[in-house]
Amino acid sequence: MVIETNQEQDETIDQLLVLLKNTLRENHASSDRLLGVAVGVPGLVDYETGTLLFAPNLGWRDAQLGRVLADQFDAPVIIDNEANLAALGETYFGAARGYREVLYISAGVGIGGGIVRDGAVMRGIAGFAGEFGHMTVDPHGDLCNCGNHGCWETSASQRALFDHIYKAFASGRKSMLQDLVHGNMKALSVPVIVEAAQIGDALALEAIQSIGQRLGIGIASLVNAYNPELVVFGGPISLAWEFLGPLIKEQIVLRSLRWNRETTHLVRARHGADACVMGGVAAVCNQVLVRPSSRLSNVSIPALLSNRGGINFGKEVSSSRRNNSPLRSIAEPSNSLTTSDRR
Ligand SMILES: [Zn+2]
Repeated sequence: MVIETNQEQDETIDQLLVLLKNTLRENHASSDRLLGVAVGVPGLVDYETGTLLFAPNLGWRDAQLGRVLADQFDAPVIIDNEANLAALGETYFGAARGYREVLYISAGVGIGGGIVRDGAVMRGIAGFAGEFGHMTVDPHGDLCNCGNHGCWETSASQRALFDHIYKAFASGRKSMLQDLVHGNMKALSVPVIVEAAQIGDALALEAIQSIGQRLGIGIASLVNAYNPELVVFGGPISLAWEFLGPLIKEQIVLRSLRWNRETTHLVRARHGADACVMGGVAAVCNQVLVRPSSRLSNVSIPALLSNRGGINFGKEVSSSRRNNSPLRSIAEPSNSLTTSDRR
């Protein structure tokens, strides 16, 4: 199912319900056997009520997702910021497994972030922490969808990547990108730009270089601010990691404090666009383990995890670096619940 980003929020929520019910039907599962429903959304969330308060890049306000889903499904509902869930997904099942201080950056249409400490998302006093994309990096910069000028995401996101290319075309510049999209500029996408860059197209490489440098500048500041053990770079733009990774590292070396960067590693997200989905699995399982219910008598969590197929339990780490979250025990080799297909 294709859900357009420019349609009305009620229409999209209706489509979401159809999608969830179809998924249940296709998997021959009933609502009363659900452990929970988790939805990651690109905006500010009231975590307690499940309300999406503001999603600047969707133009949504006050979407009562938690209430709508709770009315439809006999299961706990978790609505969270997509970068928070992706950070959780990478921490439990991906590149950040075993790390205690994790900073996750999601770059796509906008730039989001998630901070995970000892397996738990740091939300801030009102729950809105991690909105790194709206840090002002240029007070005279472009207008952002949040209403501010010069936010980081206006100069380092997919929008900036595409704008660089559109402006070059408008000035008459030629590129193999025009051939790859068959003259239809609406077909321009991150995968197409990466493909052109891999062939050596100068404009594609230049556009990636431009946002890569700006991404690196922002991340270097965040390394100073948070002193994370690991920075995980994910989201759709991470498809260009082979080009972006060195550019971001270069800026971290140039601009962050030596003491901060020497204790920080930078890696690409392991689950790419699925990191948010994996975080949903982690959030639901975590909630069930913290608050066990009769649902567990019917559903095997290890079976749930192994059914996902794509889960990679990642590197093994020393016991001193493992966190103490309830879900952690599922994935540890010493635990009797460990699935047989653990890699
Ligand atoms: Zn903004």
